[in-house]
Amino acid sequence: MRERRRDRKTARAKREVLRAFDRSLQLALAHEEADPSKLGESVLRLSRKLNVRLGRPRNLFICKKCGTMLIPGRTGRYRVHSERGISYLGIKCLSCGWYRKVIIRER
Ligand SMILES: [Zn+2]
Repeated sequence: MRERRRDRKTARAKREVLRAFDRSLQLALAHEEADPSKLGESVLRLSRKLNVRLGRPRNLFICKKCGTMLIPGRTGRYRVHSERGISYLGIKCLSCGWYRKVIIRER
């Protein structure tokens, strides 16, 4: 009984975080003038508060350091690299310079 109630709570928290993410992404994409840094921050704050992980691919579009919504070509730089047979995606936040590598395919 208690277990089930907690499940429902978790599901709702997750839905809330995902909705916040979608809204922020849409705002960032639709309005050139919208400040992408503020938008991502609120999503990160909410996901930390509710203890919900964003998961892929969403977490590839928010800078974990400064909370900017990373729009390819505008606020973030995405490059595919290959090193010794391992392909990875290099993501750079253009507002704070944070860099992250994500392995996409291992040998
Ligand atoms: Zn950043």
